[in-house]
Amino acid sequence: MSIHELSYLKEKIEDLKKDGVYRTLPILEGPNEAEIILNGKKVINLSSNNYLGFANHPRLKEASIKAIEKYGVGVGAVRTIIGNMDIHEEMERVLAEFKKEEAVMVFQSGFNCNAGTIQSVTDEEDLIISDELNHASIIDGARLSRAKKTVFKHADVNHLETVLKENRDKYRNILIITDGVFSMDGDLAPLPDIVEVAEIYNAMTYVDDAHGSGVLGTNGRGTIDHYDLHGRVDFTIGTLSKAIGAIGGYVAGSNTMRDWLSHRGRPLLFSTYLPPAVAGAVIEAVKILMSTSEYTDRLWNNANYFKAKMKELGYNIGNSQTPITPVIIGGEDKTMKFSRRLLEEGLFVSGIVFPTVPLGTGRVRCMVTANHTKEQLDRALEIFEKVGKEMSVI
Ligand code: PMP
Repeated sequence: MSIHELSYLKEKIEDLKKDGVYRTLPILEGPNEAEIILNGKKVINLSSNNYLGFANHPRLKEASIKAIEKYGVGVGAVRTIIGNMDIHEEMERVLAEFKKEEAVMVFQSGFNCNAGTIQSVTDEEDLIISDELNHASIIDGARLSRAKKTVFKHADVNHLETVLKENRDKYRNILIITDGVFSMDGDLAPLPDIVEVAEIYNAMTYVDDAHGSGVLGTNGRGTIDHYDLHGRVDFTIGTLSKAIGAIGGYVAGSNTMRDWLSHRGRPLLFSTYLPPAVAGAVIEAVKILMSTSEYTDRLWNNANYFKAKMKELGYNIGNSQTPITPVIIGGEDKTMKFSRRLLEEGLFVSGIVFPTVPLGTGRVRCMVTANHTKEQLDRALEIFEKVGKEMSVI
């Protein structure tokens, strides 16, 4: 133990407690499902990104087991040395077909896909223009880049155009970055307008579709498909950890993009690659998605039902256009208390507060999935009604 025993961190932890945002990690006993055993208690789960229930899907599990039997549990090296198996290449081929793009490069997570891609496709001659509410991994990717950075007001294409006009002649490339679906509010980026303005000013576009892939568009092909913008976005990010149910993140685009990332995508060069079990599960997930809309249909039916009922109860659920349902509570302390009360009543919905969302806009974020039954959703609504009245939120 060092002499100061991390006392400076202990002080900061005390501050978190004072601000009401200190929390312990929840412990799940068993798979991530619509109903879970959490800290020893059975509760309804409205907190996961397991949109389609694929995290514990029998066909994905079987495919993973087969991949383990054939390839083992680990790859033994970074991808660029020898951690690349034929099953990884097949995973990327099926993802590229699914996304209707020339090529896909898969990273070990959505986070390091953003961090690794943004820094490697831009340099000091370039400008990054980022929506102010973009995900943390985009912010970190931009920080790691030597490009100049600026933000545009959330989803404000007029502001974006002003920034483009001011800067177009000062830089070699301009990269406009936006989430496709904003993870804390569930709203969509105005992509058709963003792409149009990007084309006018000869800027590149980069869309993080972590929450759109497997959710929006035909068979869950994503936000680009939803808006019919195939071929007009340079980089589309998806994650394999949410609707796909496993782990990993990918960027879909051109062969040139993939070729470059295989030489300069730092997480691929310096961090051991994904286990083959993941590739097996992903291939199976994409096969299921391309063969049926059953899962995405169920997801949307459940989400629409739940959102309509929450509005009827009088909750403020913001401007969500997707299954992500933010229930705005306000203060940090109250939000965390609200979440704790829901849990006591048998419903797990995590509280999300500053710094993940702006101060004073604390919320519990409900993530309805394809696997929730109507009974589970009705029970969740009953609990929301009880706790909401009790705490004067509705
Ligand atoms: N982008 C967005 C918009 C996200 O919401 C997330 C996950 N929170 C990520 C990227 C990172 O994805 P992963 O969890 O696969 O690392």
